[in-house]
Amino acid sequence: KSGFVAIIGRPNVGKSTFLNRVIGQKIAIMSDKPQTTRNKIQGVYTDDDAQIIFIDTPGVHKPKHKLGDFMMKVALNALREVDLILFMVNAEEGFGRGEAFIIERLKEVDTPVFLVINKIDRVHPDELLPLIDRYKDLHPFAEIVPISALEGNNVDRLLEQIKERL
Ligand code: GDP
Ligand code: MG
Repeated sequence: KSGFVAIIGRPNVGKSTFLNRVIGQKIAIMSDKPQTTRNKIQGVYTDDDAQIIFIDTPGVHKPKHKLGDFMMKVALNALREVDLILFMVNAEEGFGRGEAFIIERLKEVDTPVFLVINKIDRVHPDELLPLIDRYKDLHPFAEIVPISALEGNNVDRLLEQIKERL
């Protein structure tokens, strides 16, 4: 199995930490290369039965100036071309305007989306369920997966779920 996976989410939610855990050193090597705005490969995860090509898609966040509109079109087209989108949010910060904005954009795209709730090491389990319920109402996520990219909780399970979708 092989496929393209885009990781989106506001800055500091833990996208790089997740990729580093999954792929390790290879990312640093990739990101030293000149960047293109569209579908920059961040790293490739390979095991016996799957190859997952992780893609960085800049510009899905709220645009601050005119160029942002163009970047948004570029970003949305990039999201249309991948097999799966991981939308990463911070469990500790809950749901905010930044997330609402991204969810609106996701409605313009048919690609399946996993909601990845990161930093669960920072919240009590009781806080997680209301957050999951909140997000469930906002978008038909294909999966909702709580993880800790930093400590590794549930990351292997997320990888298995990604493979099932490819
Ligand atoms: P990015 O901007 O989305 O790529 O976010 P980074 O991967 O750079 O992470 C931003 C900060 O959050 C860093 O200080 C990370 O160490 C921290 N971080 C990332 N994942 C986790 C997590 O699962 N738990 C905790 N407690 N911190 C995390
Ligand atoms: Mg990053």
